Amino acid sequence: MTGVMNGAFSLTGRRALVTGANTGIGQAIALGLAQAGAAVVCAGRRSCDDTEALITAAGGSASSVLVDFTDPMAGQDLFAGQDYDILINNAGIIRRADAVDFTENDWDSVMDVNLKALFFTTQAFARDLIARQMQGRVVNIASLLSFQGGIRVPSYTASKHGVAGLTKLLANEWAAKGINVNAVAPGYIATNNTEALRADPDRNQAILDRIPAGRWGDPADIAGAAVYLCTPAAAYVHGAILNVDGGWLAR
Ligand code: NDP
Repeated sequence: MTGVMNGAFSLTGRRALVTGANTGIGQAIALGLAQAGAAVVCAGRRSCDDTEALITAAGGSASSVLVDFTDPMAGQDLFAGQDYDILINNAGIIRRADAVDFTENDWDSVMDVNLKALFFTTQAFARDLIARQMQGRVVNIASLLSFQGGIRVPSYTASKHGVAGLTKLLANEWAAKGINVNAVAPGYIATNNTEALRADPDRNQAILDRIPAGRWGDPADIAGAAVYLCTPAAAYVHGAILNVDGGWLAR
């Protein structure tokens, strides 16, 4: 039977790079892309052996590359000769302190990884696509704090607001070149990043009470949205920021 949905969710024949793919949300997205048929390259500052093993066990194709965005220009060398169609900008860090005590180091380190590296890695990807006259997809991992202020995370909030803005600017500049730039904005997701929050019974309960869905998100919840934005089904989606937050922003 033929129809509009034929192959709409397949990534067979696509090649994807996922940053921060050794754990958490990045690992789940890498697995999801592989399960949709893409060949996945897991980029991390540490080994992505665990992610590769998961993908291989699921019958997918995976390899790894080391990259450390402590140098925000480190992504420049990732693309030449690699023929990627998809870039997932997932690597991110957070530093917590009151705004009055916040240090320049905690400002710069977060902005370098979360925003500057994301921009220049994406620029390198787009330059490679344009040189090859190919179309492509970029998915940025934003946050609730792309829209809200939060507390005690000034550089993280600034960086994630920046990710939302860049997602729209790049979508706007590159839509006509066939490069779709979109973002997923996760709510509270159970990863290493949020372990301390979940370990504190009072904070954990306060978070659960605020989430309409009544549970923490799973990395797989984010993977589903990210994979969708890479598929033919999302061909006309440009500059969207898809909230995957159990309804947090709907309250
Ligand atoms: P994790 O801490 O589990 O994963 C973060 C990933 O980024 C890791 O792979 C980490 O590598 C990598 N990374 C950090 N610094 C660098 C660097 N200098 N160079 C290369 N890679 C680096 O967190 P999550 O999976 O939760 O976070 C993934 C993304 O989702 C982040 O952008 C985060 O801001 C965002 N997010 C998460 C939410 C949540 O509730 N968990 C909510 C909203 C957004 P390594 O393991 O070596 O540190």
